[in-house]
Amino acid sequence: MLPKKHFSFRGKPRGIKPSMRDLNQNVMKKISRRNLMKMTVPTVACSLLGMPMVFSNERKPASTKRLKIIVVGAHPDDPETGCGGTMALLANEGHEVISAYLTRGEAGIKETSHKDAAKIRTDEALKGCAILKVTPKFFGQIDGNCEITKEHYETIYKFFKEEEPDIIFTHWPIDRHRDHRICSILVYDAWFRLKKKSVLYYFEVMSGRQSQHFAPTNFVDITPTIAQKHKACFIHKSQRIEEGYPEYHGKMEIFRGLENNTPYAEAFIRHIQSPSRVNS
Ligand SMILES: [Zn+2]
Repeated sequence: MLPKKHFSFRGKPRGIKPSMRDLNQNVMKKISRRNLMKMTVPTVACSLLGMPMVFSNERKPASTKRLKIIVVGAHPDDPETGCGGTMALLANEGHEVISAYLTRGEAGIKETSHKDAAKIRTDEALKGCAILKVTPKFFGQIDGNCEITKEHYETIYKFFKEEEPDIIFTHWPIDRHRDHRICSILVYDAWFRLKKKSVLYYFEVMSGRQSQHFAPTNFVDITPTIAQKHKACFIHKSQRIEEGYPEYHGKMEIFRGLENNTPYAEAFIRHIQSPSRVNS
């Protein structure tokens, strides 16, 4: 070991250059075992944004800020079932997450008026958002009758322009449900007009039955938030989601988990022209 007077890591080497072994020993002293544990905790935002896995000992990646994430679904329960596990992970990490709905699910309860159904499903969406720790937003279109008009393009565009999201999630556009397709197109248009500044991800819903031709580019291990996600989904009691969950949604979480080598996962398609990283 070299005498201390020969060099300092804070100043220039004095006289004798330290060997790699000396450097490693000194660096390892600074990285305590506890800090090492902190440095190896990956974050969801980091992996979703394709950012380098460089961590400070502050538990968060050195180059990230508190991110704003907007998830846009056509109906109450679409964001929750499509990417509720990822939303919870991001919110739990301290990022701001907005769950936006084109409609209030007006046509989603049999033998119930649009007005009453909207009230019931809005209430369920608000409870779901509270469980996921995300902020709700409603755009005022009508379930089963979503439209692509100049005004609706403007609504989403202005919302994104004002909010400046770092990441956007929305429906994959090849989907049996017309409202899902419309939602995806409105979001894509706004993202494109705003010069593709956000990272755009598509989520799947009931793949095979609704989303089709979905070939994921990214996976998120949602095992830590699976219970939180299920709670937020099952709160949509008017849709009897809990009953059909194992058949329609649970299988997807397990299948994507198999692909990802984790118990559960959610899968996404990242738009290839998304920015490779966000500005910090
Ligand atoms: Zn839907």
